[in-house]
Amino acid sequence: MSLTNTNKHIVITAYSREEFQTTLKKQVPVGSIIGLVPTMGALHEGHASLVRTAKQTSDFVIVTVFVNPTQFTNLDDLSNYPKTEEKDIELLKKIGCDLVFFPKINDIYPDDYQFPGIDLGFLDQTMEGELRPGHFQGVCQVVYRLFQLTHPTKAYFGLKDFQQVSVIQFMVDYFQLPIKIIPCETSRNNKGLALSSRNLRLTEEQKKEALVLYKTLSESKSNAIKLTPSEVKSLAEECIRKSTLKLEYVEIVNPITLENLTNEWCAHARMCIVAYAGDVRLIDNMEIRE
Ligand code: AMP
Repeated sequence: MSLTNTNKHIVITAYSREEFQTTLKKQVPVGSIIGLVPTMGALHEGHASLVRTAKQTSDFVIVTVFVNPTQFTNLDDLSNYPKTEEKDIELLKKIGCDLVFFPKINDIYPDDYQFPGIDLGFLDQTMEGELRPGHFQGVCQVVYRLFQLTHPTKAYFGLKDFQQVSVIQFMVDYFQLPIKIIPCETSRNNKGLALSSRNLRLTEEQKKEALVLYKTLSESKSNAIKLTPSEVKSLAEECIRKSTLKLEYVEIVNPITLENLTNEWCAHARMCIVAYAGDVRLIDNMEIRE
């Protein structure tokens, strides 16, 4: 464990389960509201916004940095995942969190550990679930384990990964975990591009082209006042097909069941889009009906 005090904030770092648990015992008074922000590192302003929200609404904020192998369906993606530990700590010192935990693989998955498993039903058969089989089982496995280790009162997840938030809320309900899931708005740059560590791989030209996602979502929100979901979806597909991006899918879904909407709207209907700029897979979504 090390204590660091530069700029404004002290951030305690822990690199093993033992260090982490000793720190928790020492630093966190009984009855504190513990806020957890799980991440895979390579932190950017999107992650920072989650940490800020956590700070405002919890007494003790834990950030975990763990690149979880079980949620990757492409091994190249896993081995190429950026590792920027020092920069991550610097960013957290600027924002201020209480404890950052970099667990080792054995801390998360000791030999005797078994995830109980969960049937996610349709949540795992549509969009990211359908295209990346096993991904959400891996996400549930790691988040369940992080919950076991950190005992959070609240856990903060970005709506940028909208389907992930739905899956985690389902898991919490399924296992009746006493944890409040706090969905946090997507952070965007000043032009509307959703922040992501993948944006580093975009050329300046591709960054401009990628704005078509935000434009499509915003136009769909206006169209949703007067058209059916199917009509809005067709226009959105057309808009992206006219651009240089390669469309993977556009769906308009019920925000809880993720069922596709066709003729009728429901409250808080969500449009989810995935498209490629070159070989960079971009994901975005927006609530298009109140
Ligand atoms: P990751 O490190 O990619 O696993 O992301 C960790 C958390 O940060 C997840 O809950 C993401 O949804 C969230 N996140 C990533 N990018 C953004 C963003 N642009 N705005 C808000 N949350 C984000």
